[in-house]
Amino acid sequence: MRIKKLHRINLGFFPTPIHELKRLSNFLGGPKIFIKRDDLTGLALGGNKTRKLEFLIADAISKNCDTVITGGAEQSNHCRQTAAACALSGLKCHLVLGGNKPKTYEGNLLMNYLLGAEIHWSGKFRKGEKIPEIVDKLIREGNKPYVVPYGGSNAIGAAAFVYAINELKQQQKKFNYKFDYIIFPSSSGGTHAGLIVGKKVFNLDTKIIGIGIDKEKIENELLETRILNLANEIANLLNLHIKFASDDVIVNHDYEGKGYGVINNLEIEAIKLTAKYEGIILDPIYTGRAMGGLINIIRDKEISPTSNVLFWHTGGIPSVFAHSKSLVQ
Ligand SMILES: *Cc1c(COP(=O)(O)O)cnc(C)c1O
Repeated sequence: MRIKKLHRINLGFFPTPIHELKRLSNFLGGPKIFIKRDDLTGLALGGNKTRKLEFLIADAISKNCDTVITGGAEQSNHCRQTAAACALSGLKCHLVLGGNKPKTYEGNLLMNYLLGAEIHWSGKFRKGEKIPEIVDKLIREGNKPYVVPYGGSNAIGAAAFVYAINELKQQQKKFNYKFDYIIFPSSSGGTHAGLIVGKKVFNLDTKIIGIGIDKEKIENELLETRILNLANEIANLLNLHIKFASDDVIVNHDYEGKGYGVINNLEIEAIKLTAKYEGIILDPIYTGRAMGGLINIIRDKEISPTSNVLFWHTGGIPSVFAHSKSLVQ
């Protein structure tokens, strides 16, 4: 299949490494677990949004915008990587963050400040709902703003994960076996949509399972519907003549617990086990929850012990430093 080439700038270090988690696999007595280290993309402590921003910021620059605006939760990794991408591209950055200004800045929020982003507090709205108001104001003040949607999850941003599957296929040649599963945290849906498009384009014989992170809908849509629509939009954008159906999208909602960002034993155990057996840090909101899900799936024998699993580490490390109260007990 021929894929249309999109504008892209370089913001991170790719390919991100893949390696085996032997000690964790042994401890669990389950399948071979491998990890894809998107926590090591390099952009101000890394993460999956670096991939999306390579396309989004390129689009902003090609449209002659001078300001980027996006939104998310107080500890948004997406906002932090956007702030870093703007800093390195010479663009102004406005972030619309949920909650109210806290007394001290920690984790991602501290980094946003250091990276020079201008922060707007939006109270109970944590998914960029207030962006349009601020865009109007920015335009009135003579700026040319570019809106990056919540999680960077439109077709342009999510297309990055189509290319990420190509990257994975090149790396897979090194290993003698294929990955039966890819497991990762799925939240605004862009990562997930890009991966399933990539799977079809590059003929990857792997089951792609997103672990749901957020109970709440985005713009009134179920996560599955959003991922499906986004996958079809990406296919359009890239001039691919393929269409996706609902059974292409697998989201496991079993681990959403008390909702987005509510840290529980599931996340704490997963973070501690991965740290203790592999020297790898997971974050409490996304990767800790997804690894907790994977550990549970392995213990329940929903995955055969002879299979190979690739856990996609999507980053989020700075938020560990904002959650010591929940993590240390
Ligand atoms: C944003 C994010 C995700 C979810 O990716 P989506 O494309 O929004 O579904 C997962 N993990 C981390 C660490 C993130 O910051």
